Amino acid sequence: MIIQLEKDLKEQYKQGIINKVISEGFTITEVKTQMAAYLICISKNNIDIRKIGSLPGVMDVHIISDSYQLVSAKWKLRPSSISVGDVQIGNTDFTIMAGPCAIENESQVWSIAKHLVDNGVQIMRGGVFKPRSSPYAFQGLGKEGLVMFYKICKQHGLKIISEVMEVDQIDQMCDLVDIFQVGARNSQNFNLLHALGKTDKPVLIKRGTSGTIDELLQSAEYVFSSGNEKLILCERGIRTFENASRNTFDINAIPILKKKSHLPVIADPSHGIGIREHVTAIALAAIVAGADGLIYEVHKNPEEALSDGQQTLSFNESATLLKKIGQLSHVFKLPI
Ligand code: PEP
Ligand code: MN
Repeated sequence: MIIQLEKDLKEQYKQGIINKVISEGFTITEVKTQMAAYLICISKNNIDIRKIGSLPGVMDVHIISDSYQLVSAKWKLRPSSISVGDVQIGNTDFTIMAGPCAIENESQVWSIAKHLVDNGVQIMRGGVFKPRSSPYAFQGLGKEGLVMFYKICKQHGLKIISEVMEVDQIDQMCDLVDIFQVGARNSQNFNLLHALGKTDKPVLIKRGTSGTIDELLQSAEYVFSSGNEKLILCERGIRTFENASRNTFDINAIPILKKKSHLPVIADPSHGIGIREHVTAIALAAIVAGADGLIYEVHKNPEEALSDGQQTLSFNESATLLKKIGQLSHVFKLPI
């Protein structure tokens, strides 16, 4: 059960609500975000919510029986919309984020930034802290690379999304990114999720390689319940017995996540299939399935990319994808 408290509620009223809820057999977690205050009340018992709704200081009360609460769609009238400066993600908007897997050097970033601006993309992706399976693979340029990435994006009017791998990196990155990305490998790094709940930057959480849909939602619940409501979910493919593709893009996850949660759902077709020539098909399928946006990898010379070149689109392929998205938006009346 979620109890939404009135703004600036006096302590005595809050305590009255807490005492009543405890007397009904619930355990309580108090949640204060940048936007509102809530009591999350858990119990196996049922309760007549009128007993709570009539207490002074209660703005709203909702029974939610799922393992996640605040990210559930059940207590919101409409889907959430996340503001990234003048760009909106979710609800009636469709948002594209694109860029290289990893930030490599100035000329690489410059060429991709120009490609994005020329094609109307407003958010550039690029990792400077790279989670690589092998310790001998390129690990990213680190903070120095992020500063360079930031300067070039500023010059092009682009927003930045970049992966944060450790709690210690949050402070170094906070002024340089517009959205923190939590990678698949850190999808259940609860310390990291908790710490990101203390920032005021939006957080995109990728589904773990073997994570269930409910586990992704519970990961988002960690960030929300730690104070940050600006959340974006990302389906990026899961590991299955199938080895014809890098991952199995779970198209089912898109409508299911959108039904279960009020948060925006973004699709990552690049990691989802891991094969360049099929990225466009999966991207378009994800849009038809109801995704609120895409995050994909693009590079001037994918063959020379220092990571994930095999799934990275060339500029031509990226421009074609964007054109097809425009056409699709007319057919399906998408908000693009
Ligand atoms: C990435 O976005 O480059 C990345 C490493 O993604 P994931 O965490 O989904 O593997
Ligand atoms: Mn990648």
